[in-house]
Amino acid sequence: MNSSPKYVFVTGGVSSSLGKGIISASLAKLLQSRGLNVTIQKFDPYINIDPGTLNPYEHGECYVTDDGTETDLDLGHYERFLDIKTSNSNNATTGQIYQTVINKERKGDFLGKTVQVIPHITNEIKRRIQLIESEKEYDIIITELGGTVGDIESYPFIEAVRQFRWELGIANSIVIHLTLLPFLAAAGELKTKPTQHSVKKLMESGVNADIIVCRTEHEMNEELRSKIALFCNVDVESVIQSIDASTIYEVPILMQEEKLDQVVLKKLNIKNSNKTEFKKWKTFVQKVKNPNDTVDIGLIGKYVELQDSYKSILESFVHAGAENELKVNVIPIHSEEINKSNLIELLSSLDGILVAPGFGERGIEGKICAIQFARENNIPFLGICLGMQMAVIEYSRNVLNLSDANSTEMNTETSNPVISLMENQKNITEMGGTMRLGSWKCDLIENSLAQRIYSKSKIKERHRHRYELNFEYMDSLKSKGLVFSGLNPDTNLVEIIELENHPWFLGVQFHPEYKSTALNPHPIFISFVEASYKKKINNGRK
Ligand code: GLN
Repeated sequence: MNSSPKYVFVTGGVSSSLGKGIISASLAKLLQSRGLNVTIQKFDPYINIDPGTLNPYEHGECYVTDDGTETDLDLGHYERFLDIKTSNSNNATTGQIYQTVINKERKGDFLGKTVQVIPHITNEIKRRIQLIESEKEYDIIITELGGTVGDIESYPFIEAVRQFRWELGIANSIVIHLTLLPFLAAAGELKTKPTQHSVKKLMESGVNADIIVCRTEHEMNEELRSKIALFCNVDVESVIQSIDASTIYEVPILMQEEKLDQVVLKKLNIKNSNKTEFKKWKTFVQKVKNPNDTVDIGLIGKYVELQDSYKSILESFVHAGAENELKVNVIPIHSEEINKSNLIELLSSLDGILVAPGFGERGIEGKICAIQFARENNIPFLGICLGMQMAVIEYSRNVLNLSDANSTEMNTETSNPVISLMENQKNITEMGGTMRLGSWKCDLIENSLAQRIYSKSKIKERHRHRYELNFEYMDSLKSKGLVFSGLNPDTNLVEIIELENHPWFLGVQFHPEYKSTALNPHPIFISFVEASYKKKINNGRK
C-alpha cells in the first residue's frame, strides 16, 4: 500500500478492564486478514519503567518479547492473535518517557530551557508513537492507550494524540473509543449516559472519537445506536456493539459482523477490496467452543487467585486444547496450601500437573511436594522456569538424598546449591533488567522427549530468570537418571530436563507460554495436553 502508515488510536472510557487490548488485537486481526501490514503498540500510564518489577497481583503477568523486553500482558494478546513478534518498540510507559526526557535534560540537550509536559513530554510520546515505523513498513499502526480517559496520568498521552493528529493530517488517523453500556436490571435498560460523558471528556482534550465501541452484556437496538451516534458526533455505522463473548478469540468474528474493519478502512480512506481470509481462525474458534472431551490440569503457583497472573499459560492451554479438540480445565492450586498430608486429596484427581514460574520463597515446599507426587505417580508434569528449578531440587533431595538441596534464591547458605547464580551474576544489586531475558538458543538431545515434541534439534525460546542449574551437580543428577535434553549451545546452560522412566516429565528453564499463538499452539503444550488426556483414559476417568 502506501509507505507512510495510517494510525488508529484506541482509548477507553467509563471503566478499566473493558478489553481495549482484545478490541485492538481483534481489529488488527481483521485488517491483517485482508492482507494489510498491521502492528499494535501499547502506552502504559504508570510510572514504573517496565512491569518487570511489578507484583503480578498489581498488574498481571509480565510478558517477555524475543528481544528480552519485559512488557505489558496485552502484548501477549497481540502476538497470540496476529502471529507477529513484538519488541521493545511496541510498549512504552510514562516512566520510560520521563526517564528519556530527564536523561536529555541532564545532558544539556534542552539548552537551558524549562522542561515541561508540553512540549517536552508530549514530544517524546509522539517520537515513541512513530518509533515503530523504523522497524518495518506498516500500512496501519494501532496504538492502544492504557488507562481511562479522565485519569490524571492519561492526559499527556491524550494531548500527544491531539497534537500528533494535527501534525500528521487529521485524515491519516482515527480514534476508537471503547466504553461500557451498563445494564440497569431494575429499569431493564442499557444506559448510554456514561458513554456520552466519557466521549465529552475526550472532547475536552480536543480529541474527537471517530468510532465508539460499546461493551455490553445485552444486544443494542437501533434506537440505542442512533442515540449514541447523535450525542457523540458519529454516524450510526460507527457505533459498534461489542457483546460479551464466550471466548476472546471470538471477538474478531463479532467485530467483523459489526463491520468494524470496513468502517475503519472507510474513515482512513484506504481502498481494500480484499475479502477477509478467516477460515483457519474460524476453525480454531469452532474447536475452542466445541471440544470432544475435557482434561483436568492442575496449575500450581502462588498467584493463582488472579487469572491475569498466568495469562499466557492459560491461553496456551486454550490453543493446545483446541489442537487436541479438548477443553483443558485448569485447576488452580495454591502452592502454599500443599503439604505431604493433603497431596492425595488435592492432586490425585488431576490428569496433569503444571508447576508455574515465580520468584521468592513463598510456596516452594508445596511445589516440591507436588513434583514428587507427579514423578512417583506417573502423572504428566510440566515445570516452567521456577517449576523446572524446583524439579531439580526435588530430585536432588529425594533421589540423590541431598536433603538440604536448594536454590540460592531461597537459601543462600544451603550446602547443596543445585540452583544458583552464575559466577558473573553475583554482584547484582539492582532488581530491574538483571535477568537472562528474551530469546536464547537451545540444542536438543537426539531421541529425547523434547526432541520428539519439537520434531527438530535446534530451537529458540524466551527466558526470564536469574538462577541456573549448577554445573557442579550435573554428573550426579545424570547418573541417577535425570536427562539434560536441552542445552544452550554457547554456554552449556541447562534449558530442559526430563526423566527416562516416566511417561511425560519435562522441566523447562524458559517460558514456552510466551510463544504459543492461536494458530500456532506451542508443541510442548500440545504434547502435555495429549499426555494428560492419555493419563485420564488410562485411569478410566473417561
Ligand atoms: N526465580 C527464578 C529465577 O529467577 C525463576 C524465575 C521464573 O520462574 N521466571 O531464576
